[in-house]
Amino acid sequence: MILAKRLYELQQIDLEIQKTQELLDEVNRQLGESETLVRARAELLAKEEHLAEIDKQQRDVEWESEDLRSSIAQMSKKLYDGKIKNPKELLSLEQEVKLFKAKLKQKEDSLLDLMAEVEEEQGKIKLVTERLSKLEGEWQQEQKVLAQQQAEAERQLADFSQKRQVSASEVAPQSLELYERIRLRKGQAVVKVEQGRCQGCRLNLSMRELQQARAGDVVQCSSCGRILYLS
Ligand SMILES: [Zn+2]
Repeated sequence: MILAKRLYELQQIDLEIQKTQELLDEVNRQLGESETLVRARAELLAKEEHLAEIDKQQRDVEWESEDLRSSIAQMSKKLYDGKIKNPKELLSLEQEVKLFKAKLKQKEDSLLDLMAEVEEEQGKIKLVTERLSKLEGEWQQEQKVLAQQQAEAERQLADFSQKRQVSASEVAPQSLELYERIRLRKGQAVVKVEQGRCQGCRLNLSMRELQQARAGDVVQCSSCGRILYLS
C-alpha cells in the first residue's frame, strides 16, 4: 500500500475518533442532575413551606376565635342570669361583649381569607407536583438513553483507538511525525488530489508534484504543505 494512502486511512480513523469524542463529551455534559428539575424541586419546597405557614396561621386564628366565643358565652351568661344588679356594671359588661363580638367578627373574616389562601396554595402545589413528576419521568428516560449513548461511544472509541494503533504501526515514524505536525497546524494533514488540484488549498499542482504523488511518495503540496493523496 502506498504511504499516502496509509496516512489518508489513518486520518479517517482520527476523524472518527474526534467525532466520537465530541459526541461523548456532549453526552457526558447532559448526564447527571438537570437544572430544570432542581429548580422545579426548589419551587415545590418553597410552596410547601408557604402552605405550612398559612396553615399554622389558620389554626392560630381558629384557636383565638374559639377563645373569644367562650369568653362571649361566659359574659353573656353573666349579663342575663340576673346576678349583676348594678346598671353601670351591666352596661360596661354589655359594651365588653360588643367589643369581643367585633373582635370575633374580625377573626372570622381573616379565617375565611386564610382558608381561601390555603385552598389556592394547595391547587398550585398540585400543579407543581404534577409538572415535577412529568419532568422526573422525562429526565429518567433521557438519562437512560444518554447512558446507552455513552456506553456505545466509549465502545466505539476503544475500537477506533485499537484500529489507529494498528494503522499507525504500519507507517514509518518519520512520516507519522510529519502527519502529526501538519495535522496540528492545519487540522487536515492528508488531502486528495482532484483534477490536478490540491483539495486542501485548491491550487494547481506542478507536474513534478503530481508524478511524485502518483508514485506513492509522501509529497507535500508546495502551497499549503499538506500531504497529497492521489487515489
Ligand atoms: Zn495545497
